[in-house]
Amino acid sequence: MSLNNHYYYDEEKCEFVPVQHSRFDLTIYTACLWILNGVVLAGIGITLLSNYIGTPAELALKAENETLIEQMKTTRESINVLESRMESISEMDNEMYRSVLGMDPIAPEERMAGIGGTDPYSEFDVYSEETSDILRWTSSKLDNLERRMGIQQVSFNEIKGYYNENREFMRHLPAIKPTTGILLSGFGMRVHPVLKYRRMHEGVDFRADIGTPIYATGDATVKIAGRRGSYGLMIVLDHGKNYETRYAHLSGFADGIRPGTEVNRGDLIGYSGDTGMTQGPHLHYEVRLNGKPVDPLNYLIADTSPEEYLMYQDIARNNPMSMD
Ligand SMILES: [Zn+2]
Repeated sequence: MSLNNHYYYDEEKCEFVPVQHSRFDLTIYTACLWILNGVVLAGIGITLLSNYIGTPAELALKAENETLIEQMKTTRESINVLESRMESISEMDNEMYRSVLGMDPIAPEERMAGIGGTDPYSEFDVYSEETSDILRWTSSKLDNLERRMGIQQVSFNEIKGYYNENREFMRHLPAIKPTTGILLSGFGMRVHPVLKYRRMHEGVDFRADIGTPIYATGDATVKIAGRRGSYGLMIVLDHGKNYETRYAHLSGFADGIRPGTEVNRGDLIGYSGDTGMTQGPHLHYEVRLNGKPVDPLNYLIADTSPEEYLMYQDIARNNPMSMD
């Protein structure tokens, strides 16, 4: 198409004569052509962008969506950490607090009790599968944690009530670590380091160099402070209510420690050593109830966090040998 191609019919001459445009017409015409081209090109461009790439608003939404999904994934990791902490607290609550205090443990199914009934998360089904999965998972885990924390709170309140009603007995109960060293070996069947065969290890072993202070784990009366066969130099404390603690392989006793001495929880009673039948210096510690040895790891109520309790259990389970 060109301006030169336009003609008009001249009736006087009886022929087609080319239209003569003024310079102004030509300028207007060219400008219109450019504007038209621009509009068409912009239209094509916007259509392509919308269909294949997205409008700026859509792009912003997409970026926001991706950030949200990433954030939800990070939240998922935090929820997993919280869940495993809740697990440690429940375990410690049952095995340490409730069992030692003679209270019934809370059954796992009671701790994990679900909501039941209709699907509470069906509202998420309107979203894409990925989004719906993430939302369902997060909501159900959070609901579950909330319920378990509620049950735990009730349990701790019961324990607090028990403690307040039995303050006198609670002072006597073995409830702290007898020394500062780490746990070396747990309670149960273990290979004896000297005899080299498996036999019952009736206590736990703590790392303690010769001369490390040893403390009474609850208020008690000294029953024995002397040498007893393979135990070497040992102290036996009578806590009342048929509880007894034993501290073996000592190198010496603290001043004034002899049968009949009254001690309080945390009092210095002696020093660790390697007397008796032992592989090296350490403290062998026993808790006995009604004359029978019980796992001393459950009697660390006053100074052990749930994480420490799980760590001790790991060490106790994974070390097949005792120091004896
Ligand atoms: Zn031992």
